[in-house]
Amino acid sequence: MNVAFFSTKKYDRSSFLAANEERHTLRFLEPHLTAETVALARGSDAVCVFVNDTLDAGVIEELSALGVRLIALRCAGFNNVDLPEAARLGIAVGRVPSYSPHAVAEYTVGLMLTLNRQIHRAHNRVREGNFSLDGLLGFDFHGRTVGLIGTGKIGAITAKILLGLGCEVIAYDPFPNKECVALGVEFVTLNQLFSRAHVISLHCPLTPENHHLISDPALAKMRDGVMIINTSRGALIDTRAVIEALKSGRVGYLGLDVYEEEGDLFFEDLSDKIIADDIFMRLLTFPNVLITGHQAFFTRNALENIAATTVANLTEFETTGRCTNAPPAK
Ligand code: NAD
Repeated sequence: MNVAFFSTKKYDRSSFLAANEERHTLRFLEPHLTAETVALARGSDAVCVFVNDTLDAGVIEELSALGVRLIALRCAGFNNVDLPEAARLGIAVGRVPSYSPHAVAEYTVGLMLTLNRQIHRAHNRVREGNFSLDGLLGFDFHGRTVGLIGTGKIGAITAKILLGLGCEVIAYDPFPNKECVALGVEFVTLNQLFSRAHVISLHCPLTPENHHLISDPALAKMRDGVMIINTSRGALIDTRAVIEALKSGRVGYLGLDVYEEEGDLFFEDLSDKIIADDIFMRLLTFPNVLITGHQAFFTRNALENIAATTVANLTEFETTGRCTNAPPAK
């Protein structure tokens, strides 16, 4: 198949060229897929896209008019795709449901520990010859209550790591994970999780129903000084509300690998540019906020698995007209 890859970086090219073994014709493009760039898909049977590509109704209609028959997501989340519109126009959608849940879970715990012990700030201090410990005081994770929202593949591995640290792990998921129950994770209501957890970590997909799950009403139920970690999708958190909660002290620590307006920022080197997003820039001013640019997935193992599964999705669609790795029906 002829495949136009949007939003590609050097590392995507390497992993996909290795996995493809010259089976499909791959065309690597740097721009995001948007209404302005969709014409670049001309001549392609499939587009391969990532987390910040836009696949709204307008873009999907254009893809259909260009003869594109498959949208191959090289990620697990599919919140950026108008699935009903794709179905209406007969365009198949494939994704990579699992490539390395370990990568994201390990990174999540890394964010928790770094924020707690301020390792990033300590590193900067020592480089400046400042060996003062003021402001670096942390707490023992052992014995703390961590609340996980979502106990699928990533949430379950995060739970195991945290149990290993001696945390009490509580969780909310409309479909509680039996393996987690067996390990001693206590499933509770969302409100109980908000009120009991010292640390709250998000591991559920973004859907229209849970957009801004963490906003004023949820924040009001949380413990003073709570730590919130988001390695899932940015729009699960109402950033303006969290900024107010950071200012009041209600939120004591915030660790983000995703941000609701990340599409204009993440994955690019903007160090020479003026960043116009005042909300994002305000977040950067807090000493107790740690932000990374959507890198939780970024391990060698994950890139190899993403490329292998995506190439398998392309081959399956080419030979059978179907894609087993379609996003789940609602
Ligand atoms: P998964 O499908 O295995 O698990 C998701 C779980 O969330 C399921 O158990 C589901 O029942 C639960 N869930 C659904 N709606 C919920 C809600 N409103 N409240 C609580 N739980 C809910 O997915 P996964 O592989 O564990 O991935 C989780 C999310 O992590 C993905 O949706 C994606 O957004 C994100 N992710 C981020 C990165 C990164 O690099 N930062 C990488 C991969 C995945």
